Parts: sequence; structure tokens; C-alpha cells
Amino acid sequence: MDPLLMVQQQIKSALELTNHEPIVYELLAEPKRFYDFMFPVRMDNGSIRLFKGYRSQHNDALGPNKGGLRFHDSVSAEDVKALSAWMTFKCALVGLPYGGGKGGVVVDPKELSPLELERLSRAWVRAFHNEIGQFRDIPAPDVNVNQQVIAWMVDEANIITSSSQNAHFTGKPLDLGGSRGRIQATGYGVSYMVRKAAEKIGLDLQGATASIQGFGNVGSNSAVMLAGWGVKVVAVSDMQCCVHNPEGFDVAALKEYSDAGHPLDEFPGVTVLPRESLFELPVDILVPAALEGAITKDNAKKISCKILCEGANGPTTPEADQILLDKGVFIVPDILANSGGVIVSYFEWSQNLYGHYWDLDMVLFEEEKMMLQAFDLVYEKMTTRNIKNMRLAAFIHAIDRIAEVMKLRGWY
Ligand code: NAD
Repeated sequence: MDPLLMVQQQIKSALELTNHEPIVYELLAEPKRFYDFMFPVRMDNGSIRLFKGYRSQHNDALGPNKGGLRFHDSVSAEDVKALSAWMTFKCALVGLPYGGGKGGVVVDPKELSPLELERLSRAWVRAFHNEIGQFRDIPAPDVNVNQQVIAWMVDEANIITSSSQNAHFTGKPLDLGGSRGRIQATGYGVSYMVRKAAEKIGLDLQGATASIQGFGNVGSNSAVMLAGWGVKVVAVSDMQCCVHNPEGFDVAALKEYSDAGHPLDEFPGVTVLPRESLFELPVDILVPAALEGAITKDNAKKISCKILCEGANGPTTPEADQILLDKGVFIVPDILANSGGVIVSYFEWSQNLYGHYWDLDMVLFEEEKMMLQAFDLVYEKMTTRNIKNMRLAAFIHAIDRIAEVMKLRGWY
């Protein structure tokens, strides 16, 4: 499903349960600003290749636009618009002073040499630097963008502006003003939300089973935290395959193996299954942590889990959402479940602006506190309104907050 239609449907469903004026839908259904641009990069063989870039600044009522930048060969304008909208609602939900942004470049970075990747990253900044800034739009890493890419981008922006500020990007390496804990933040946050959901449904995490779709930053870090609490992670998947071990993986060893660049299917003692099989294995906890639209009406019918905690953005289509709700699955929606990343990005930005840096314990403590508060708030909204739907409750809370500020600003 087109992710933009998906987010628009989510906004409509939430607005049906509120008394906001119809213009609130118009203000939220499309980004306030959307950029679609081509930029040239010199390849190693001397030729010039043109790349397509998108950046969406969805809504800046609450503060500067904040959101990741994705390098992916299938990224589209609709993906970027939808992802920026989810950022707006996520930031509003957890109480951050940000609006939503997102960017993408149509490229498979694996096809580029390291030097080409550096030139691409710097060229993106040259093409777009007028629109970013610490109080305007603050990019961060998303899929296939790592700390090194962000470091090149910070450097290029500093060269252009003759400055050494670093609060205009987050997800930076530690020595360039990054925050401790940023790498683990999203995955750990997903686990905190699994633990809260388990408390609510009376599931003992010790010995509970989990499957994780996507074993990158978010999936692998949430798996590590869950395993530390006694959860048996029995299946994980990536682009290539699904690996299964009914006894539960040694997750730390699997992560180390995968981080070192080894394929999951060569990890000792695994049964290798087709990628899609992950959704057919009955488990207590399912964490989609790959890309949007992974859980559809077709595979949702086969899913058997008690908790679905959305590490990825937009992994569940609205039809699949309804199927899982009807089955009684407790769903922790993306805008809550994966908010740990932007929360620690906010800590990074604040630390940069203050020039004072926190230790890891403080970062993780503050992240957990904010996420638990947000969970309680959404759960309370869900129960007081008797809507049995955490996603709807989360959207209602986020939209109420943004609508109020848009009204104060005189946008309607
Ligand atoms: P990543 O690139 O580190 O990892 C993505 C993983 O998904 C890889 O293991 C990849 O092989 C796998 N994958 C891709 N397509 C797949 C498929 N069809 N089936 C199974 N596995 C597949 O990316 P990430 O940073 O972990 O981000 C994952 C998701 O989480 C994205 O939706 C992203 O927008 C979202 N997210 C990330 C952060 C963050 O801080 N990194 C924050 C919030 C949300």
C-alpha cells in the first residue's frame, strides 16, 4: 500500500474520534514543504551520475523539522512524505519540540565505492544546505545511512557556512558531537515498549518467544535487550533469509557475527527458511524492524503473536492492523515503539546546543523515562476512550497537541 495513503487513513481514523475542524486534516495530510531535486556526483571512472533526492518537511508547528535520511534504490516521494508525517506525530506524541522531516536518495549505496559514497553525501549537502539548520530541519541517519555519512555531511555543511556547529545533524559519531547511546537507542526503546505491553497482558518475559524481522540497527539492538531479560529470540530475518532456532539464539553472538558482515545463514546451528516464513512461526512477541508495508492482509492472517511491537516505521498496513486487532494482538504502534531514536537525537541536539555532554546511564535513563511516560499516556487514552487500539489513541494524542499549537499560531 502507498505509505502516504496509509498515513492519511490513520489521520482520518483519529480525526473521526475528535472534534477538530476539517482544516486540521488538510494541514496534516500533505507536507508543508516538499523538495524533489537532482544532484550530480562524480564517479570513480570520471563520469558524472545524477541522483534523485527528496526531502519532506511535513509540519513545523512544534519546532524544527526532524527526521532521518535514507539511501535506498526504491525510495519514493510518497515514502518520504509518509515517513515525515509519522515523524511529526512521533515527536508530538513523546513531547519533543520538533516537527517531522524525512529525506531520501534513490541509490543502492552498496553499488558505490567508499569515495563515491563520500562524494554523494557531500553533494547532497551542497544541493540542500539552504534548507537545513539546527532550528530549521535537522537530518539524521535512516536506512543505509551511518555515522560516517553524517560526519561527511556535517563537515561539508561546516565548509559551506564557515562554521563548526554540529547541531544541524544528529546521529553523529561520538567524537563529532554525537550522543552516547544513540546507536542502541531505537532498539532498546522498542524493548522497553515490549516490556510494558507484556506487563499489561500478563506475559512473563522469562522464556517468552520472539521473532525479529530485520537484523540491522533497530532489530539487533532490541533483540539483545530482550534476550537479556530472558526472552528466547527464536527467529530473525534480513533481506536474504530467515534463520530459526527453536531453543533461542545466543543473540549477542549472532549480532557480533552479523555486524562483522557475515551472512545470517552461515551462523552455526541455524535452520534457514525463506524470508517470509518469519511471519508464520507462532511466537509471543513479533518485532518488525525492516521497512514499511511488511505486514499485509495476506501474511497477517498467518501471524500468531500476543504482542506486535513496531520497530520499523509503517510496517503494518491498515487492513493488516485490523486483522491483528481482531485476533487480540496487543500492538505498540511505530510512532511510540521506535521513538527512542528521535528522543536520543533530541538529547544529542540539546547537548550540542549546551556544549555539555551526558554519560550513557543518564541518556538511557532519560530515554526510558520519556518512553514509559508516553506509553502510559497512550494506554490511559485508549482505556478512558474505550477504543482498544493503541495506534488510534497515539494518533489522537499527537494530533490534539499539534492542532492546539497550529491554532495558537493562527494556522486555522
Ligand atoms: P538497517 O538498515 O540498520 O536495518 C534494516 C534491516 O532490515 C537489515 O537487516 C535488512 O537486511 C533488513 N531488511 C530489509 N528488507 C527486509 C525484508 N523484506 N525482510 C527482512 N529483512 C529485511 O535499518 P534500521 O536503522 O534498523 O531501520 C529499520 C527500520 O526502523 C526502518 O523502518 C527505519 O525507518 C526504522 N527506524 C529506525 C531508527 C533508527 O534509529 N535507526 C529510528 C526509528 C525508526
